[in-house]
Amino acid sequence: MNSRAQTAQAVQSNEEIEAFARKLLDRVGVYGKPPTPEAAIIAVASLVKHGELDLEAERASLLKQFGAALISGLKKIQGLLDLRERVIFVTSDLHEKRKPFVAFHEVGHSVIPWQRDVLCRGDDNLSLSPNTKQLFEAEANSFAANLIFQVDAFDNEAKDCSFAIQTPILLADRYGASYHSALRRYVERHESPCALLILGQAIQVVGQSRKLGHVRYIVSSKQFKGQFGHPEWPHVLGGQTVNGRVGTLVEIPRAQGQVLLRDLDGNERAFLCERWTNQFETFLMLRPIRTKRKLFAPRIVLISGSDLKDEEGKA
Ligand SMILES: [Zn+2]
Repeated sequence: MNSRAQTAQAVQSNEEIEAFARKLLDRVGVYGKPPTPEAAIIAVASLVKHGELDLEAERASLLKQFGAALISGLKKIQGLLDLRERVIFVTSDLHEKRKPFVAFHEVGHSVIPWQRDVLCRGDDNLSLSPNTKQLFEAEANSFAANLIFQVDAFDNEAKDCSFAIQTPILLADRYGASYHSALRRYVERHESPCALLILGQAIQVVGQSRKLGHVRYIVSSKQFKGQFGHPEWPHVLGGQTVNGRVGTLVEIPRAQGQVLLRDLDGNERAFLCERWTNQFETFLMLRPIRTKRKLFAPRIVLISGSDLKDEEGKA
């Protein structure tokens, strides 16, 4: 299959997955009334949630008990679905805000028809090809996100608020979503060209007041990709070691910064960079600004920028 056909298929599948999520929300009658109630969604999908267990520790006994089950989570087991018994498990050591997402992910495996058909045939974690398993995981993640953010309800609310990093942060609590997933959703579905850099914990530079962070991955809106592709980020201090760590580093602005990016036609465009930090991560959101004044020196300084990679579908 060529890449155009694959893209067309992925888009079709995205639209279908949104439609399945919408149908479930309508059946429970909660569209536009977040947060999406986990118990009601599980019940309307005719499933039962069997408590919470440390699934990784119970892997062998669960598979023995449930036989043809689908294990979710590509690296570490996060959930388990047994369609024959119509039960789902969610692992116990997840952040509270992540648990409904994993439960909805398992619901997704059971209601997406082409997945249900394969699973009902008796295919499971052992017999599915790695590619199919990866595709099923991505589809179930998309389904779960559509339940949490109620398809376009989150987008519509966000549109009525200012174009700022605080908007998804404020809406996250209302939708019972993690800040991380709300920020991603906001940027990926935004109608303007914008990007989100997700950094690890901030590193204080010895003897200086500035802080740096490793870029873990970048997501961007469709419009950003169309106008900027994968831009050449500014390079400064290429390859230097900071506190013994080498890699893709970005200087974290105190609150806001500005950066110039070159679009695919070669024109420079100014972006405002807003920061939001929690205990574990720093997020930098870039949104375009119009300025007639000369920009002050960019405060966003990337090191080894060529190492940056977009990572669209994290499991
Ligand atoms: Zn799964």
